Amino acid sequence: MKRVVVFANWKMNKKLDEAGDFIKKLVALLGGRQDIIVIMCIPYTYIGSVTSLIKDTCIEIGSENMHAGEWGEFTGEISAPMLVSVGCSHVLLGHSERRRYFEETEEEVGRKMLSALKNGLTPIVCIGETLEEKESGRALEILDKQIRVCLHGIPPSHRCYVAYEPRWAIGTGTTPEYGEIEKTHLFIRKKIGEYYGEIVFGNTGVLYGGSVTADNSYKICSLNGVDGVGFGGCSLDFDCFTKGIEEAARTVVRTDR
Ligand code: PEP
Repeated sequence: MKRVVVFANWKMNKKLDEAGDFIKKLVALLGGRQDIIVIMCIPYTYIGSVTSLIKDTCIEIGSENMHAGEWGEFTGEISAPMLVSVGCSHVLLGHSERRRYFEETEEEVGRKMLSALKNGLTPIVCIGETLEEKESGRALEILDKQIRVCLHGIPPSHRCYVAYEPRWAIGTGTTPEYGEIEKTHLFIRKKIGEYYGEIVFGNTGVLYGGSVTADNSYKICSLNGVDGVGFGGCSLDFDCFTKGIEEAARTVVRTDR
C-alpha cells in the first residue's frame, strides 16, 4: 500500500511538557497506522526526549533546521550527527522563514541537504516562490533554480522529500488553485528526473505545504504528483492536525481488503 506522507512544522512553539503530551496522544491515536507516515518537525530541545515514544510507529521525528557542517567552532549551532545521536531521523531544510529571516541561500540549503544525507537524515527540502515572483510570472524559473541548486550533488538511492511551499501561501489561509498545485508538482517532478535521473526521481517524494487544513488536505493529496502535505499552524492544534491527517489518508488506496 502506498502511504501518504504528512509533516508538521511546529516552528518556535510549545514547551517540553506540551510537546511530550502531544506526541503521546498522537502515538496512541495513529501510531499503528500503515497508510500514513507522519514526520513531526519540532524544536531541537524536545527531540531527544520524544524519540523513545515513537519507536515502532508510523511517526518520525524531524528537526526544523540544522547546520551544514558536522563539528567545530560554530557556537550555538546543531549539526546532522548531533541530531542523529538523539534519535532524529528527518530534517526540514530551507524553510521560507529561514530564507527570509536568516538569509539562507540556495547554496547553503544544498550543503545542508548533502550533510543530512551523508549522516543518515532524510531531508525535507522546501522550495517555493514569493508573491512578487509569482505575480511577475517567474515562479517556475525560481523553482527550477531551487531544484538545480538545493539538490545539486544528491546521491541516488537515498530517500528525500521536496516540499513545494509557495511563500505567499504560508500562514495566510490562501493556497494556489488545485490545478496550479498539480501543474507545479508535475513540473517539479519532471525537473528532478531531468537533472538527477531515474533513481533520484523514484526516491524523492514531493509534498505540498502552505495553509493546509482538514478542509483541503484530501483534495490536495488527491492531486497528481502530490505525495503528501505539510501542516504548519494547523499542526499545533491536536484536533486540527489529526483531522487533517485523516483527510489526507482517505486518498490511500487500500489493497488489503
Ligand atoms: C509551514 O510553515 O511549513 C507551513 C506549511 O505553514 P502553514 O501550514 O501555517 O501555512
